[in-house]
Amino acid sequence: MTAQFDVAVIGLGAMGSAAISFLSARGVKAIGIDAHFPAHALSSSHGDSRLIRLGYFEDPSYVPLLQRAYENWRALEARLRADVLTITGVLQIGKPDSKIVSGTRASCELHLLPYEELDRKAMAARFPAFALDEDEIALLDPQGGYLRPEAAVMGYLKLAATDGAILHFGEKVTAIEPDDAGVTISSDVGRYRARKVIVSTGSWIAELVPQLREHANPIRQVVAWYQPRDGFVTQPHRMPAFLRDEGEDGSYFGFPAIGVDGVKIGRHAHFMEPIDPNRPNPPVNDRDTALLDGFIGRRLPAAAGVRVNAVTCRYTMLPSEDFLIDFVPGEPRVVVASPCSGHGFKFTSVVGEILADLAIDGGTPLPISAFSFEEMENFLAPRKIQARG
Ligand SMILES: Cc1cc2nc3c(=O)[nH]c(=O)nc-3n(C[C@H](O)[C@H](O)[C@H](O)COP(=O)(O)OP(=O)(O)OC[C@H]3O[C@@H](n4cnc5c(N)ncnc54)[C@H](O)[C@@H]3O)c2cc1C
Repeated sequence: MTAQFDVAVIGLGAMGSAAISFLSARGVKAIGIDAHFPAHALSSSHGDSRLIRLGYFEDPSYVPLLQRAYENWRALEARLRADVLTITGVLQIGKPDSKIVSGTRASCELHLLPYEELDRKAMAARFPAFALDEDEIALLDPQGGYLRPEAAVMGYLKLAATDGAILHFGEKVTAIEPDDAGVTISSDVGRYRARKVIVSTGSWIAELVPQLREHANPIRQVVAWYQPRDGFVTQPHRMPAFLRDEGEDGSYFGFPAIGVDGVKIGRHAHFMEPIDPNRPNPPVNDRDTALLDGFIGRRLPAAAGVRVNAVTCRYTMLPSEDFLIDFVPGEPRVVVASPCSGHGFKFTSVVGEILADLAIDGGTPLPISAFSFEEMENFLAPRKIQARG
C-alpha cells in the first residue's frame, strides 16, 4: 500500500529542512526525502559560514522578511540550545555611490535601521585587517553576522524528527504527479501520496519543475580559506564579516577567522560559469585561486597568509537574482522554493515558515509577492521583447 502524508518535502537542504521542521511543529504528517545526506558537499548549504545582514542593499523590501528571519533563527537556537547565529557586525565597503554602499544606506534609512559610517582612517584604527582606498568608506551594520549552515540544516532536521517527521536520505525523487485528490511522488525506492508537495531541490530544481528549465541556472562558486598573517586583527571580535563592492570587478564577501582554516573569502557568482548539477563540482583551478589570492593580498593584507583550503560550490541563479517561492502555475498542490541567487541562506528560517504556511493554509501573511512566477515573467518580459527587437 502507498504511504499517505499531508505534505511531502523533496530536498532537505537549507530550505527543505526548515520547511519540514515548521510543518512538523504544526502537527502535520510530513515526509522529507533527499537524494543525498544532510549538508552534503554537492548542496548549496555547506562550508562553515553564511552572511546575515539587516540593511539589505539588494532591495529594502527584503527587510521585513529578514526581521522575521532573525526572530526565527533565535527561536531555532533556543529549541536546540546551540549557537547557529553569531553577531560580528557586517561591513559593507566601497565607494559611497557603489551599489552595495548606497543600497545599504537606502535600506537602513527607509527602515530606520542603525548603521555607522567609517572612512579610511576610522577603519584603519578600528578594523585594521581591511585596506581601503582614499575614496572608499564602510557602513557597519551592527546587527550583521554569520550563520552556521551545517548546524542549521542538522538542527532543523533534528527538530523535525523530534516532532514526528519521517526523513528518508539517499533516495532520489524521479517524478511528482499532481491530480485532483493529491500528489503521487515516485522515487528510485518507492511511491508515496501526499495532499501537498514542496519542491526545494536547490541546483536540481528544474528537474522536477520544468517551468524553471530556462530560468534556474546552477553556476560554479569558489571559496578559499587563508591562515591569517596577523591572527590578532582577524579574530571575529576585531574583524566583522564583510561585503565589498569592487565596481567592474564585482563584489566579494568574507568572514573572520572562525575555525581552524582561518579567513574565508569568495567573489559573488565567481566567473558565472554554468555547471551540470548531476556531475561532480569542477575542481578549483589556477584561475580561481589567482582571483582570490589577488583580492586578499590587496584588500585584506593581514589575512593573506597561506591558502589552506579552496572548494567549489553551487549557486542557483534566477534571472533577477531574486527568489522564487510560489505554487507552480496551475498546480495548487505543488509549492516550489528556489531562494538562492547566492544570497538565500540567511532567509532559511523565514522561508521554512512560509513554505509551511503555503502547504498548510494555501497562503502566508509574510510578504512574498515579489517572489512569484508572475513577477519572474514580468521581469523577463521586457528582456524578451528587446531580444526579439
Ligand atoms: C559558496 C556559497 C556562499 C553563499 N553565501 C551566502 C551568504 O553568505 N549568505 C546567504 O544568505 N546565502 C549565501 N549563499 C546562498 C545559500 O547558501 C543558498 O541560498 C542556500 O543554501 C540554498 O539552499 P537550498 O535548500 O535551496 O538548496 P540545497 O541546500 O542545495 O538543498 C537542495 C537539496 O535537494 C536535494 N535534491 C535535489 N534533487 C533531488 C531529488 N530529485 N530528490 C531528492 N532530493 C533532491 C539535494 O540533495 C539537496 O540536499 C551562498 C551559497 C554558496 C554556494
